[in-house]
Amino acid sequence: MYTKLGISDAVVRLGEEVLTELSDRFREIDENAEYNQLKVLAAMQHNNLQEAHFAATTGYGYNDIGRDALENIYAEAFGAEAALVRPQITCGTHALAVALAANVRPGDEILSPVGKPYDTLEEVIGIRESKGSLKEWGVSYAQVDLLPDGTFDYESIRKAINEKTRLVTIQRSKGYAERPTFSPEQIGELIAFCKSVKPSLICMVDNCYGEFVQKKEPTNFGADMIVGSLIKNPGGGLAPIGGYIAGRKDCVEQCAYRLSAPGLGQEVGANLGLLPSFFQGFFLAPTVTASAIKTAVFAAAVYEKLGYHVIPSSKETRYDIIQAISLKTPEALCAFCRGIQKAAPVDSFVTPEPWDMPGYDDPVIMAAGNFVSGSSIELSADGPLRAPYTVYFQGGLTWFHGKFGILKSVQELLDAGEIGL
Ligand SMILES: *Cc1c(COP(=O)(O)O)cnc(C)c1O
Repeated sequence: MYTKLGISDAVVRLGEEVLTELSDRFREIDENAEYNQLKVLAAMQHNNLQEAHFAATTGYGYNDIGRDALENIYAEAFGAEAALVRPQITCGTHALAVALAANVRPGDEILSPVGKPYDTLEEVIGIRESKGSLKEWGVSYAQVDLLPDGTFDYESIRKAINEKTRLVTIQRSKGYAERPTFSPEQIGELIAFCKSVKPSLICMVDNCYGEFVQKKEPTNFGADMIVGSLIKNPGGGLAPIGGYIAGRKDCVEQCAYRLSAPGLGQEVGANLGLLPSFFQGFFLAPTVTASAIKTAVFAAAVYEKLGYHVIPSSKETRYDIIQAISLKTPEALCAFCRGIQKAAPVDSFVTPEPWDMPGYDDPVIMAAGNFVSGSSIELSADGPLRAPYTVYFQGGLTWFHGKFGILKSVQELLDAGEIGL
């Protein structure tokens, strides 16, 4: 089948060689997935998940027992008191914007002790001028960068926490920044430190791409809220839209009032018939996430062998599903993306081209052939055309598709004369 799908013997051989060295890594990934599968299953059983919970509601969505069951299941699986899980939360940025805005008031300050947050949050907070930002509402922002070795700068964080500081925002995944992704344990230490300085602080974690990668989530280590997107890990590839906020009951309640309206809160919001995909997606999420991690580790090992710099390495423990590979030339970056695109189940016939995206200084190339538009738990890759021509990729609903995608990328590099085998 590999031959039929355009992979040469040399590339197949390289893949198999690399795989023989990954059995321990894969066993560890499967162990986490097994634990998380049982965690989700236990939450579903404990909340008596049943057919009646799959029924569609419309209009106001009062007495939506399925929606309530879903939120209870998320809360329990994530070790939280409560959760808000809605199709009305349009994406991860929206969930984060709701969580932030709901839990601060004019005059308060938000602190990021882990450096600059994800690009889209710059406008939410007002780090970049933007209409409707929290800055316009009189909420200020402070930031403490990581130390050069990627660890927390505790002394500066202590100094940055003042009488105005209300909420601490911690991004778990490195996103597109050059820094390590934090483990839930590390985040727990940071939260404990911040609260030792000021016990009333609300600690929120941007958990995007982190769900189910380890056995525990930041909520298990003292986070007041974790926030994420359903078209990433927890949607399991099936959720067509949505976001979640899980955490302390009073914080989640504030979020519900912000998302709908004061006085209405969590009581309104019809499920529009999407609950079967949310439940089933959450059920599949641990194994889907494991497939994405296997794909990332495999890619790291393959490209290490080919002499490229990869972050993280094939040996490092993973705390998110993102893999970065510095491909050294624009041609190699484009070839990699062509490979991912050619491997897709959808839109495999199109060729990705770099383009001048609004908000970016350099042309960006993107590859994805998705069932759910923009979903990045599905195999996808992108990168700006500037040195060192790093591609960021993530996802893979099944390990075998992820593996094929990586082999296809290697084949494209080989055919373009970027590598020899
Ligand atoms: C994806 C992501 C977001 C934003 O999510 P969208 O769904 O793209 O709006 C925020 N933070 C991190 C770390 C992310 O990976």
